[in-house]
Amino acid sequence: MSSEDYELVVGLEVHAELSTKTKIFCSCESSYGEEPNTNICPVCTGMPGALPVLNEKVVEYAVKAGLATNCTISKDSKNDRKNYFYPDTPRAYQISQFDKPLCEHGYIEIEDDNGNPKKIRILRIHIEDDAGKLNHNEFTGGSLVDLNRAGVPLIEIVSEPDIRSSKEADRYLKKLKSILQYIDVSDCKMQEGSLRADVNVSVHKRKEPFGTRCEMKNMNSFKSIQRAIDYEKDRQIYEVEHGNTITQESLRWDDLDGRTYQMRDKEDAQDYRYFPEPDLVAIRLSDEYIEKIKEELPEMPESRKERYMKELGLSEKDANFLTSSKAYSDMFEKAGEICKNYKAVCNWLNSDIARILNEKELEPEQIPFSAEHLAGLVTLIDKGTISSSIGKKVLDELFENPRNPEKIIEEKGWIQISDESAIKEVVLKVLESNPQSIIDFKAGKDRALGFLVGQAMKETKGKANPKMLNEMFLEELKK
Ligand code: ADP
Ligand code: ZN
Ligand code: MG
Repeated sequence: MSSEDYELVVGLEVHAELSTKTKIFCSCESSYGEEPNTNICPVCTGMPGALPVLNEKVVEYAVKAGLATNCTISKDSKNDRKNYFYPDTPRAYQISQFDKPLCEHGYIEIEDDNGNPKKIRILRIHIEDDAGKLNHNEFTGGSLVDLNRAGVPLIEIVSEPDIRSSKEADRYLKKLKSILQYIDVSDCKMQEGSLRADVNVSVHKRKEPFGTRCEMKNMNSFKSIQRAIDYEKDRQIYEVEHGNTITQESLRWDDLDGRTYQMRDKEDAQDYRYFPEPDLVAIRLSDEYIEKIKEELPEMPESRKERYMKELGLSEKDANFLTSSKAYSDMFEKAGEICKNYKAVCNWLNSDIARILNEKELEPEQIPFSAEHLAGLVTLIDKGTISSSIGKKVLDELFENPRNPEKIIEEKGWIQISDESAIKEVVLKVLESNPQSIIDFKAGKDRALGFLVGQAMKETKGKANPKMLNEMFLEELKK
């Protein structure tokens, strides 16, 4: 059989750190990047006798996430102990939710690989606490534990196994990330581990039951997740084709080798001995509470998209692109508002800016310059102060060392030459050194004009006003 005869099945368990000010069961700050073990207390370090108190904001944020992903909100839910030993978890259990999660049975709509709308169902969203971090010490050997992250609130969003390709998985994750950012419950900074996914993959022959899944835990790069799924699909098909069985296990994706490895300990064999957390009361939500959160939900990507098409006349493709990320969409609205040229802002974002981000492997929210900077760049081009080719150089500068575009062109001497006598001087010089082009043009070869303009641009290092160059060349050539 060929790999065409197999179907891929993927289900994702996504962990998102909530951006509440304080941790889930104590009042320690849940900020990132502090000195090790500075945001800790007896509760989040698991001291015997220390009692947890549930942070109400965590419930609110999780309910928001549930509503934004079309889930049913459970009015009755509770916390459970999930017992396991690991050195970054001093209590030797995590407080999670087992059989009564806060949110259930939702969906996120994405496009399938043929561009048709497709719903990826969400099984559940529950709240839990994050673990600390082990810092492996290269010099002295051993590990040091930093408990600043212990007790940072997480939501876990578990999808049904509805995903059928690595590209669908990518679109699902990006959509989920954008939703969480729109409702402002998580910054979703993947490089800081605020968003990470356990990736479950299986294959089966079409029309046969699902195969056994393997799981790759804690992945935090969209690119690696796609590669890992594609790799696992091929590997599992190969195994099945060679008469081997797939066993349910945790695998580790190695980004450099581009392959998965078996983990030494098989975590799937673990028994967590869940039981209701005796130190916390059950969570009971009123209809009014849920209704109020629903009313306060901000504008979602779908409605922004409609607005961009209807009010600003953007194409569906452009509107889709901009709303794919809250960072793009916010920058678009703010920069457009300032320079009043929404179309130009959109073009910068979906061509050069997206390309540079891709090259640098950055996410849209890591754009180093502000909406004011982008608006400034558009205005300089609109006013004819710089050409669009200089504009690209300004953009490179904005990525390297963000500052006011006007200041950049002043420093670099990139102001466009629009002075008639200066332009004429260049035109005459270029004509003089390219007599063949004059002959070609007169013989009807229009391309010669483009060539001459190009030469003049080279001569002025891209600073000449292209419109004036064109006109002036035509004038001279017709003489
Ligand atoms: P856990 O991994 O914690 O045991 P579950 O049994 O709830 O949790 O399943 C976790 C994930 O595995 C879910 O996202 C689900 O969609 C996915 N999954 C279940 N069965 C399959 C399968 N046959 N192939 C791929 N993914 C699967
Ligand atoms: Zn604490
Ligand atoms: Mg799992």
